[in-house]
Amino acid sequence: MAQHQGTDAVHAGYSPSGEFRPMLPPLHNCAAYQFASHAEAIEKFALRQAGFTYSRTGNPTVSILEQRVATLEGGAHAVATATGQSAVALSLLALTQGAKHIVASASLYGGTVDLLTDTFADFGIRVSFVDQGDLAGWEAAIEPETRAFFLESVSNPLCTVADLPAIAAIAHRHNIPVVVDNTLATPVNFKPLEFGADIVVHSATKALAGHGAVLGGLIVDSGRFDFTDATRWPQLAAPRDRLNGACLLDRQGPGAYTMLVRSKFLHDLGPALAPASAQAILSGIETLAVRSAHVGQSVQVIIKALSAHPGVKAIHHPSLPTHQSYALAGRLAPRGTGCVLAIELADEASVSAVIDALELIALAANIGDTRSMIAHPATMTHCRLSAAQLAAAGLNAAVLRLSVGLEDPADLIADLTRALDSAIAAPSELTQGVFS
Ligand SMILES: *Cc1c(COP(=O)(O)O)cnc(C)c1O
Repeated sequence: MAQHQGTDAVHAGYSPSGEFRPMLPPLHNCAAYQFASHAEAIEKFALRQAGFTYSRTGNPTVSILEQRVATLEGGAHAVATATGQSAVALSLLALTQGAKHIVASASLYGGTVDLLTDTFADFGIRVSFVDQGDLAGWEAAIEPETRAFFLESVSNPLCTVADLPAIAAIAHRHNIPVVVDNTLATPVNFKPLEFGADIVVHSATKALAGHGAVLGGLIVDSGRFDFTDATRWPQLAAPRDRLNGACLLDRQGPGAYTMLVRSKFLHDLGPALAPASAQAILSGIETLAVRSAHVGQSVQVIIKALSAHPGVKAIHHPSLPTHQSYALAGRLAPRGTGCVLAIELADEASVSAVIDALELIALAANIGDTRSMIAHPATMTHCRLSAAQLAAAGLNAAVLRLSVGLEDPADLIADLTRALDSAIAAPSELTQGVFS
């Protein structure tokens, strides 16, 4: 690991080798790998020998990405997945085997809320949602069967920062691992494993890749959580039929959790990351630190320029003293919280007019792209949330989410100002009807 993140972002996980010493991580586009002998195949399939067998459970290009993100997050091991969604799902399925219980923050990405409330419920996995800032609420929600805490280091779109050290202390008192979605912050701004998290998940689709070209996810394990209690963690600490009576912890040590994710869930459910996508994400990560610094400055300039606009009721961003996470963000994430900020319009009825008047900023359901994008959470990313869930996440229908890209901030400000001005001048009949 290098001294600075910007260097790891460029180099971690790969150094040129072999006959040609290619400067860039090579693309190993293959489904399978030839074994030197039957004996080697037997050892690799039994997980007694490390190595690639079939690209659903591992690939050399994907492996470089796994090592790079593990290094950036300060973790011991990582597994890449096809999407951020599958990273969240697999990270939790590996902990809740046997239909256990999760305590989760109420401020989560909409797709994660769908997964936890609907699909996990189908599997018999129960979830209690708590107000992220209510520390007593986290502890009160713990049940004998609770096997994970789940939260986002920085929530979307309001950018609420979690008091991770305090939440992790509660979890660890009850022998519960903490899984943190670090998609918005990225390891350049915040490293959850340094503040008590045990497992970090990412949608690499967003700021990690940074170009919006491919989807991908990552699960990073600190390797530090104590899974040795076989009554609580039979999937890791007890002998398994699947391993011919061996136990993953004995065989893999601190790599047991990621091996469980890889050899069971990635293997059985199949959301493997394509090698070409891994290469594209690696290429994006090379510029992560530089992009992050640029975007952090643009966010500040945009906030300053828009705060006083009459069409804006409030800007929600933790760099502002009015934000509930102002103090926490200053302490935990002084470099910033990423590319997202929330703009609450003065008039809910002008939402469509503002969005449709934008020319440079695109209406799209993504964040962390080179290009700036706007979304209306209440009708788009969070549209399946009930009114109560929306309110619990601190959202209302006047809030727009802005993902700041790499354009010159002056052009973004001009676009936003013109759209806000025009909406004030001529509110649309149609939007008034939709939200009143
Ligand atoms: C986008 C996103 C996900 C899901 O990732 P995909 O790559 O779209 O599957 C999960 N968590 C957060 C915070 C996200 O922004």
